[in-house]
Amino acid sequence: MSEQVLSQILSSLASLQASQELLTSKVDKMQADHAPAQELKVRDLMNSHRSTRSSVSSYPNQKGVNPARLNWGDANPIARGPILVSRQSSEVNSRNTIGAYGGPYSIFRGLAVAMGDLAQDHKPNFEYTQPPIKIQQQPQWSDPSKIVSMDPFGHLTTQFYRKEIEEGHDIRPTIAITRAHMLVPEVQAEVQNGNIPVDGKIVVSETGELNVHKAAVDPVWHLPGVAERLNISEDRLRRCLFEQTGGMYPELVTRPDLKVFMPPIGGLTVYIFGNHELLSDPNTRLTVRVHDECNGSDVFGSDICTCRPYLVYGMIEGIKEAQNGGVGLIVYFRKEGRALGEVTKYLVYNARKRGGDTAAKYFKRTENVAGVKDMRFQALMPDVFHWLGVTKIDRFISMSNMKHDALVDAGIKILERVPIPDEMIPPDSKVEMEAKIAAGYFTNGHIPGEEELCRTVGRGWDDPSV
Ligand SMILES: [Zn+2]
Repeated sequence: MSEQVLSQILSSLASLQASQELLTSKVDKMQADHAPAQELKVRDLMNSHRSTRSSVSSYPNQKGVNPARLNWGDANPIARGPILVSRQSSEVNSRNTIGAYGGPYSIFRGLAVAMGDLAQDHKPNFEYTQPPIKIQQQPQWSDPSKIVSMDPFGHLTTQFYRKEIEEGHDIRPTIAITRAHMLVPEVQAEVQNGNIPVDGKIVVSETGELNVHKAAVDPVWHLPGVAERLNISEDRLRRCLFEQTGGMYPELVTRPDLKVFMPPIGGLTVYIFGNHELLSDPNTRLTVRVHDECNGSDVFGSDICTCRPYLVYGMIEGIKEAQNGGVGLIVYFRKEGRALGEVTKYLVYNARKRGGDTAAKYFKRTENVAGVKDMRFQALMPDVFHWLGVTKIDRFISMSNMKHDALVDAGIKILERVPIPDEMIPPDSKVEMEAKIAAGYFTNGHIPGEEELCRTVGRGWDDPSV
């Protein structure tokens, strides 16, 4: 660690300690100043029944602090230890993870507790919640360089840490697996047209009902591993996360002994068509779509991009693969608008439509607003493939060079890259497609030159057909 970084961390530690002392003394003063009737209010404000103080942060050598075991990358889940991130008063000293269960939803939990709708010490009842299928433990689960952004034992929490949970510890799963039927209008149309047969296993009805297993995964970051994957120092990672979340997680800088962080971001969902047990079998064909969330297209059907058509194409190809004895896999990441968010995305749309929407200027418009053209950091994306034991993808339904390169760099073979068919591309999204192909996205076809990029123009706002 460089001396400069060390002194920066020390100074932020000192200022944190000072602000905590200040806050504590203010709370004490408020309580001393208020009449007994008011005291309850102050206690409520500080959100604790047992103590009138809510500690802002903790420190490694603080009295009572004794984190539960957590040996990231250990093949034995008992020796590895549970992810314990709860700040309930009984757990606060044994936390071994920074952040909160539920990622962004922890904020709503805060509201529910504040409103009195949820007891602060509520412990979930996990009866009947276990996965309906077994995801076989893979050697990748105990390779700390292969999985850094999720807990590979996250779906087995109630099984492996039953004893601790029964003893009253607030330990929660970070992965949940279930089975379901899906109904997607475009897929239903393919079934009704006879392009996809009803086989009774994957497509279970004439109306195009699909049998699927799905897994929801909350992010759990092993900070040293994430730093290494992104090729930065752990100190720099911690400091930038602390600052860019408005100082929301002081322990990122005060608790270098805590190596794991549950960030307040959306996770991912895995959809499996076919037999999940074959995912790790290199002799089984596998079709994959890695999809990053685009609410405007995925749900509301915008014509400005290819997101929903691509997602649907991935499903159709995955279903066909599964019907031929292989497996279809969709991994859906909550990384709206290239992880820049929907507000930034709409600002960029406005700039594009007002400033002349050409493929030549496509990425520049995003950079003008966001400072970068993409923040999806695909380097963390392959972890879920390691979790499922995937070592080879036969058909990769994507043109993204970033997704492709991240998987290949992670040691996962991609045998064929499959672009979206032309007839599925909405007219106004030609701007995006051509800009991406010119920037290095995969295509079987023609790569447009500078002049063509200037000629590819999107629909303007003054277009009378709007
Ligand atoms: Zn989109």
